[in-house]
Amino acid sequence: MDYTDLYIDGAWHKTAERFDVINPATEEVIASVASADIADADRALDAAEKAMADWAARTPRQRSEVLRRAWELMTARLDHFAHLITLENGKAGTDAKGEATYAAEFFRWFAEEAVRADGMITHAPASGARILVQHKPAGLAVLITPWNYPAAMGTRKIAPALAAGCAVIIKPASETPLTMLALMPLLEEAGVPPGLVNVLPSRKTGALVDHMLHDPRVRVVSFTGSTGVGRKLLKSAADQVLKPAMELGGNAPVVVLEDADMDTAIEGTMLAKMRNLGEACTAANRIYVHENIAEAFTRRLTERMSALKVGDGSDPSVDVGPLVNADTRDKVAAFVADAVAKGARIECGGTVPEGKGFYYPPTVLSNVSEDADCVQDEIFGPVAAIQTFRDQEEVIHRANNTEYGLVAYVFSGDFKRALQVCERLDYGMVGLNRGLVSDPAAPFGGTKQSGLGREGGHEGMLEFMETQYISASW
Ligand code: NAP
Repeated sequence: MDYTDLYIDGAWHKTAERFDVINPATEEVIASVASADIADADRALDAAEKAMADWAARTPRQRSEVLRRAWELMTARLDHFAHLITLENGKAGTDAKGEATYAAEFFRWFAEEAVRADGMITHAPASGARILVQHKPAGLAVLITPWNYPAAMGTRKIAPALAAGCAVIIKPASETPLTMLALMPLLEEAGVPPGLVNVLPSRKTGALVDHMLHDPRVRVVSFTGSTGVGRKLLKSAADQVLKPAMELGGNAPVVVLEDADMDTAIEGTMLAKMRNLGEACTAANRIYVHENIAEAFTRRLTERMSALKVGDGSDPSVDVGPLVNADTRDKVAAFVADAVAKGARIECGGTVPEGKGFYYPPTVLSNVSEDADCVQDEIFGPVAAIQTFRDQEEVIHRANNTEYGLVAYVFSGDFKRALQVCERLDYGMVGLNRGLVSDPAAPFGGTKQSGLGREGGHEGMLEFMETQYISASW
């Protein structure tokens, strides 16, 4: 493996302490990666502070061109990044290529946004003063990313931060640090100056991040991961009143109304469930199907799920790779056992295979009870849990009955009715007759305990900017 050390100030740094990265398909060690400590964090903060002074002073167009070049370079090397993603995360080739493409698109989108940090000038209604509003880079940003999208969850933060004029320090997930490290030479080639983007893998995660969040130069903490860790970071961020961007857990409901087009509903549910083999905050977690169409829906979904080929993601004929680690696989198996104990029927899958690799087969459960753990918590695996409903009001209530509010999916042939249901769902995003909402051009994020702030869209860059208002007379 080429890049396994810390990346600080545009240079690679070895450390005495290192940790192993495992290929989830074979359980073999694929790399030994440097583990950052507090002194490394201080070096990265110094480098970021120095780099940001120059970067923030560049014109938006200059920043935009570096980001555009990053998109071009990454797009030319999608296979390379997809290969790395599969190696350390396990996901199948199609998912990995999809992620690499999505990750690269954030550079293109924010290259376009970098030159559109609109301000405003207006007359104060009473005083006669002018109100001038502009957005300025917020300051150094600490970015913490999860293992389920080793490239995209990083670029979704790096690209807007750089577009805004900020320098960043990234703490990638310990399961999957290699993709982010491999992105650094590409960013150098694109023209990112030393110190502007620093990467600190670490096994001392809590202490390292906490230290950075208490450095007065840091102004933004942008986190994607579990709601539990997000809560801890919000508490730490409170000490310096940092600007938080929190992309946390989900518990996405899929609502299939009686008038849904069956092909569209099956296609959309497959995508919402099986993109990234269910290891996504946006993954369909609870599937509510109208009782009059539930039997046909379950049969067709089971046919599709059973036809998927499970295996090592580096084999191009494979649809579903292994889960990221043994804990994740065991958690999925426990969800299925709990649902079955509470009355669910296994339509397909449901058994952990023998042998190496953290595999779990695509599984369909029907007759899942409302109190099953998989209805209350994120499954984060390839298990489709189907429940039925009779009444629209009832299903809206059940869909909203969770602490999460990231994304919901609605399938209906009646657009007016579907939009009425969408508006009643307390979610930051809704897929209407679609199983995919993620798009660099759209504001991604959740309500309630799914997070704070939005990534992508026009909003994404504002997460890394402060609004300044000047009251002026002339
Ligand atoms: P996680 O356990 O919360 O870890 C995410 C990141 O936080 C990792 O880099 C981890 O580092 C770090 N971390 C762990 N403990 C920390 C602490 N005390 N202080 C600071 N950082 C800490 O989540 P995960 O298991 O990797 O990812 C799955 C979760 O992410 C799911 O809940 C999923 O829904 C959510 N997710 C949300 C979105 C979204 O956009 N809303 C997108 C993707 C995933 P180590 O690896 O070193 O422990």
